[in-house]
Amino acid sequence: MPTLAAITAEDKKLIKAAYARLMRSIKSELDQEDQENIKKAYNLAVSAHGDQRRKSGEPYVTHPLEVARICVTEIGLGPTAVIGAILHDVVEDTDVTMEEIFEMFGPKIARIVDGLTKLDGLYNVESPQAENFKKVISTLVEDVRVVLIKMADRLHNLRTIGVMPVHKKLRIASETSFIYAPLAHRLGLYNLKTEFEDICLKITEPDIYKKILENLDSSKKEREKYVNAFIRPLKKGLDAEKIPFRILGRPKAVSSIWGKIKKKKVPIEQIYDLFAIRVILDVPLEKEKKSCWEVYSVVTDVYKPIPERLKDWVTTPKSNGYESLHTTVVGPKGKFVEVQIRTERMHDIAERGFAAHWKYKDVQDGKPNLYDSWLDNVRELLDANGEANSLEFISDFKTNLFSKEVFVYTPNGDMRVLPHGATALDFAFFIHTDVGYHATSIKVNNKLVPMGYKLKNGDRLEVITNKNQKPKEDWLKMVVTGKARSKIRSSMKEERRKQGELGREGLIRKFKNMKVDFDDGVEVLIKHFKLNSKADLFFGFAMETLSFAELKKFNVENHKLVLKEEEKPEVIIADEDTIPVQKINRSALTKILVNGEPAEQYNYSYAMCCNPLPGDKIFAYLAAASGLKIHRTNCSNATHLIANYGYRTMKAEWVAAANSSFVAELTITGVDDGPGVIERITTTISSTLGINIRSFSISGKEGYFEGKVSLVVSNKDQLNKIIMSLKKLDNISSVVRSDGRKS
Ligand code: MN
Repeated sequence: MPTLAAITAEDKKLIKAAYARLMRSIKSELDQEDQENIKKAYNLAVSAHGDQRRKSGEPYVTHPLEVARICVTEIGLGPTAVIGAILHDVVEDTDVTMEEIFEMFGPKIARIVDGLTKLDGLYNVESPQAENFKKVISTLVEDVRVVLIKMADRLHNLRTIGVMPVHKKLRIASETSFIYAPLAHRLGLYNLKTEFEDICLKITEPDIYKKILENLDSSKKEREKYVNAFIRPLKKGLDAEKIPFRILGRPKAVSSIWGKIKKKKVPIEQIYDLFAIRVILDVPLEKEKKSCWEVYSVVTDVYKPIPERLKDWVTTPKSNGYESLHTTVVGPKGKFVEVQIRTERMHDIAERGFAAHWKYKDVQDGKPNLYDSWLDNVRELLDANGEANSLEFISDFKTNLFSKEVFVYTPNGDMRVLPHGATALDFAFFIHTDVGYHATSIKVNNKLVPMGYKLKNGDRLEVITNKNQKPKEDWLKMVVTGKARSKIRSSMKEERRKQGELGREGLIRKFKNMKVDFDDGVEVLIKHFKLNSKADLFFGFAMETLSFAELKKFNVENHKLVLKEEEKPEVIIADEDTIPVQKINRSALTKILVNGEPAEQYNYSYAMCCNPLPGDKIFAYLAAASGLKIHRTNCSNATHLIANYGYRTMKAEWVAAANSSFVAELTITGVDDGPGVIERITTTISSTLGINIRSFSISGKEGYFEGKVSLVVSNKDQLNKIIMSLKKLDNISSVVRSDGRKS
């Protein structure tokens, strides 16, 4: 454990000040026990973190204290979360154990600290960010507070990100915009979401960020003047209504202005709504709706509204709990101005989301609890998605739980809310699994529509079923919801299993005759045919897409199938998209670090487009289907990937490792002077330079040839040497690496 010796008097002052700031922020009455526990947590954190320091030089413990303060002031959490936040890094970063936390603070706090510690765990899976996302979501279901504290932690780290190396900043930014910003949005934490996005923009697009900020600054005076002129006549009208109110004119966030610039493809000078007017009313719950509309009436008496921009989230709140009445009106000088009308309660929920919503939970008896049903959906999705991979989980999650919604009606006129983009077939599965399974046709507003029809607000749907109907493979293309997809898939699987039964029986007989152990034989064949599962194997034999004749390629040794020597496949790499690492050279595995960790823990491969070699500057990209790809930073695809999928890129570097080699491809062109040319090239490479040739192909036309040579080389220097030697040969006109770059 670090000692306190290195802590100076100055440090102690800083720590005490941070603690005092935290305690001042807690406005609610604390009971004796809470008070004692907070103090206890504080003392433990101070002694455990000892002389640890943040990058900025401050004593480390100021960080958890500040995180706790954010939990109180910006998320509205209570004493339990405060204690959890103070302790959030002790198990991860100090000698304090989980058991000690449990003993000192009991199971509730221990569970929160445990959750936070796990969230901080190392990425140890093939697709780190995706898996991390799933981890965060699973934690969310167990105790929402864990995720909320984690967000406060992330926010404080972002606020103090300071002088970190750029690649680390980029990684943190990508993870934040990938996981935390959408989640903050979904949980109704608008302020956090906005700040996350602003800081991310500042990191990823510093120039754009600066320009927008400057523009906001330089137009500030003028804007304030305009806002005042806009508000003045409103105030008069509102005073007359005798509703207590406050009215604010605030500039919009930099990131949201950037979003508009991108969407509308216009320069910032042409973005008219750089600010919004907010009218906040202080009225009792039962008068809320009436008062909001009264204010709407006052506003639209003064300024002409744009009807299609009216959004009424007072009558129907957003599914993340947001309530407000938005209208856009034509203000002085013909400018469009957005006016948001809400009550103090709605404002509190809009600012602090989840926790505030909980606070008002009792007041809103009768209304279904939005978060409860949202969390139920999360749970369902996690269950349904048990077997699928993390990337698919994310795409499901994003469509189903982050996206906008569409409101439709059952034949009885009951409203159902589905994710935006959902189809008629999604609706059928949404109503009931059986309705989905047996859907034969679907009517929308009394007209038949294709199953893949995209739902529109207000559609009235009727599903016609037949008990003989069952899901088909192409249905998967007609649904977007996780529920429908997983139900269709499990039905397909069951169907395949049934059909595969014949194949399984056939294989049992064959293996019995050959005296091969069944389980072992199955394993070998799955690998041999490069399949994913037993089901695929049995199905293949049943449908005769796989042939029992293939078994002739095996010997039986010790009841096991062993591939005959002459049947072992040549390594063919030329027509594959990427070169799997294991086919090149196993010792090469230790050569790459991804985010500073050995790359072999990921399922990675080299991108065929640029085929990087040791010495090349590289980065890692998480491809949607095929895992991690290593690209050269000067690869022609790199700019596009980094720009559009920044959140999927990771730092990668070479580290020295002995005896490793890599495959590089050269394209050689020249004048075709007969069979001699091939010999000269191959002799030069293999005999003179002692390099292994993996494959060689040549094509010729009108006295001209183009050859492609695949080589195993140890490093870039060696490759350059080969290229130089080849270029010196007679009748060779060019030698380039396969991606066309001249090395
Ligand atoms: Mn932390």
